[in-house]
Amino acid sequence: METSSSSGDDVMKWFEEVAKNAGEVQMETLKRILQMNHRVEYLKKWLGDIDDVDNMDAEALQSLYVSMVPLASHEDLEPYIQKIADGDTSPLLTKQPITTLSLSSGTTDGRPKYVPFTSHSSMTTFQIYKLAAAYRSRVYPTREGGKILEFIYGSKQFKTKGGLSAGTATTHIFASQEFKLKQQQTKLFSCSPQEVIFSGDYKQSTYCHFLLGLFYSPQVEFITSTFAYGIVHAFSLFEEYWKDLCDDLSNGTLSPKITIPSIRSSVLDLLKPDTYLATHVRSKCKELEESGWYGIIPKLWPNAKYVYSIMTGSMQPYLEKLKHYSGDHLPLVSAEYGSTESWIGVNMDPSSAPEDVNFTVVPTFSYFEFIPLHKQDHKASHAVAASGGGDDYLEDDPVPLSKVKVGQQYEIVLTTFTGLYRCRLGDVVEVTGFYKETPKLNFLCRRKLILTVNIDKNTEKDLQLAVQKGSQPLVKDQAELVDFTSHANITNRPGHYVVYWEIKGEVSEHILDQCCKEIDAAFVDHGYVVSRKTNTIGPLELCIVERGTFKKIMEHFIGNGSAMSQFKTPRCTSNHFLLKILNLSTIKSVRSRAYE
Ligand code: AMP
Repeated sequence: METSSSSGDDVMKWFEEVAKNAGEVQMETLKRILQMNHRVEYLKKWLGDIDDVDNMDAEALQSLYVSMVPLASHEDLEPYIQKIADGDTSPLLTKQPITTLSLSSGTTDGRPKYVPFTSHSSMTTFQIYKLAAAYRSRVYPTREGGKILEFIYGSKQFKTKGGLSAGTATTHIFASQEFKLKQQQTKLFSCSPQEVIFSGDYKQSTYCHFLLGLFYSPQVEFITSTFAYGIVHAFSLFEEYWKDLCDDLSNGTLSPKITIPSIRSSVLDLLKPDTYLATHVRSKCKELEESGWYGIIPKLWPNAKYVYSIMTGSMQPYLEKLKHYSGDHLPLVSAEYGSTESWIGVNMDPSSAPEDVNFTVVPTFSYFEFIPLHKQDHKASHAVAASGGGDDYLEDDPVPLSKVKVGQQYEIVLTTFTGLYRCRLGDVVEVTGFYKETPKLNFLCRRKLILTVNIDKNTEKDLQLAVQKGSQPLVKDQAELVDFTSHANITNRPGHYVVYWEIKGEVSEHILDQCCKEIDAAFVDHGYVVSRKTNTIGPLELCIVERGTFKKIMEHFIGNGSAMSQFKTPRCTSNHFLLKILNLSTIKSVRSRAYE
């Protein structure tokens, strides 16, 4: 029997209605946020003591709000959030006291940030889960009562000085009532119990996710992780674990490597010996090992309809490996666009390729504004230099959701139910069209520049493209790029870019020289090219680090409160600790001969 679509139809109808009136819905959303919070300390500073919010016209309120409250960055709100973390329960950002804080992954700039988390955050998560599931099941129907193999992980939860619980947003979500409700409503259930998700040891969790995933394999309807990195990383561990997994599957036992008592008992409660399945899995794995594990997902989970995860943005470099594990026919479905601060958009067209996916903004989640961004070389006459600084965009004044234009790039600004007011998210998106009155966005990149020595300006996307191009020669040696990061080294003159690669396989010096030259030549930013030609930026350095280095980096972040579920490899770092790991692990380095 296929998933009943009545609740799916309801949520899609609801979305159609809000999308039809997106402009008004946005004004109403802002009004609701201000009704809830207009007298809090932060807003009082800008709006004074307005007290007739209830009776104000939503449009007039919107004009007042954007003219009085300035654009802010997370740093502007940080002193308030810190006071909340330290136990101040007065209405600083929200009237209702905040009891939970989320740690945004922070791996983009190396420092986790606190963001308030409220029941509204769980509620919108539940809403987007239902909406996304409805669109997916229209294209890829799943069997009612089936299972999901989820590579998800709770992070360490801890108390702040003021006694608030803190952890990553995904951790709060996985622990929430809404997470259970979502399973009941979509009629698809996690293979792993909560004890496995929350073990606190990602290796033990991954092992058990696999063991239960195999045990329930005939019932698994799809495979997922929050970010694509999670699946790719899990399968790299599978290559190590499979023999033990087959033994445990056959005997209904659990490897002594799994030491945490709560996971042991929860998994052993579910597991029963299945020699037939174990023999089948073992023989498949032997074949798969020969073929470099190509197509492992459909081979071991033959009823899986698709793989579902965030595959865009900084996850794009893992797409190739994900395709390898998924074989050529299993659909890869891009998961929704959101952040610790707020959910943003839903993927309404699950059959679109990850490279082409759009996210349709859900206008009830937050009040969204969009700062038009112009590349300096095609500047708009009335645009002003970016006040955020540090990049090559010129900004226009922010526009509301109803005023965005197709083809234009924007930075997203959020006003949330959780106490963020006109806060820049730091993501760059492009509007690609509309669904009814609400925009569809293509995620482009994080706004912050990551590589700059002098007049050069390169973003994460520029680095990604250069690395993609520069890694092509690796196939000649049957090697593959596992992960990468970079650093702008300015300790000596001229400064230069350093790109760190972890590679699987053996690569000759000659191929590495070629890769290095190609990366260097692939940075097309005018400032970089000119500086390279005049040697005010030195030749790019490609450092090869030993296998497992990026795993060490991930473990370092997890140790600091980040979670596997939200982990994103920092694509550029100046963090001394990471540079130390990278430099100590460098086994070979070459300098570019481009521009000679
Ligand atoms: P976090 O800091 O863990 O809350 O991560 C949120 C950030 O992850 C967003 O601001 C985006 O930069 C990125 N992100 C989230 N969803 C997507 C997506 N679907 N595609 C690309 N990037 C995403």
